[in-house]
Amino acid sequence: SRFESMKLKPQLLKGIYGYGFEAPSAIQSRAIMQIISGKDTIAQAQSGTGKTATFSIGILEVIDTKLKDCQALILSPTRELAVQIQNVVKHLGDYMNVQTHACIGGKHVGDDIKKLQQGQQIVSGTPGRVVDVIKRRNLSTRNVKLLVLDEADELFTKGFKEQIYEVYKSLPSGVQVVVVSATLSKEVLEMTNKFTTDPVKILV
Ligand code: AMP
Repeated sequence: SRFESMKLKPQLLKGIYGYGFEAPSAIQSRAIMQIISGKDTIAQAQSGTGKTATFSIGILEVIDTKLKDCQALILSPTRELAVQIQNVVKHLGDYMNVQTHACIGGKHVGDDIKKLQQGQQIVSGTPGRVVDVIKRRNLSTRNVKLLVLDEADELFTKGFKEQIYEVYKSLPSGVQVVVVSATLSKEVLEMTNKFTTDPVKILV
């Protein structure tokens, strides 16, 4: 399969090739169009499969770059991963005029607030800091249409369950949810049952 057959925005396709990808990986072939179609998606995939670009491409295709509000939120279990994800989104979106921000603990929240005030359409972060900026009303979730939980099993083992629920509760009803996890543990399945409706399951 090819990226061309996905009928992506030309500027996004340009970003994908500019990043150096030639053809979609297995998970990308199977999940990108599902995500774009708006369906809740549960992907069982390890790192190394191309999972990050899968949801990043899905997000970049569905967001409206004319709207400055946050439209996609990506939660991941570590600061390093949240920054890595933001980097991938930023580079794939290089030709799209899109604003992305990594919202992570361990840095001054004032820096986040400044950035968020400028309008960040895609926010990648760790759950604690994201809850914090939502509660402070520095991140408006009113136009978020997509929530990604990356490495969901790790999110649980690291004890982020409550914070993930808090973030989810603040989102508009009917928000699309994409869950990526190396293992589908009991906790992950319990959460996906609560957060998703009729999800498509993809095993890589
Ligand atoms: P991930 O599974 O997101 O941790 O990605 C693993 C690695 O695969 C990263 O270095 C990506 O840049 C790379 N990658 C992802 N998708 C593709 C693709 N379609 N073609 C080539 N490399 C890719």
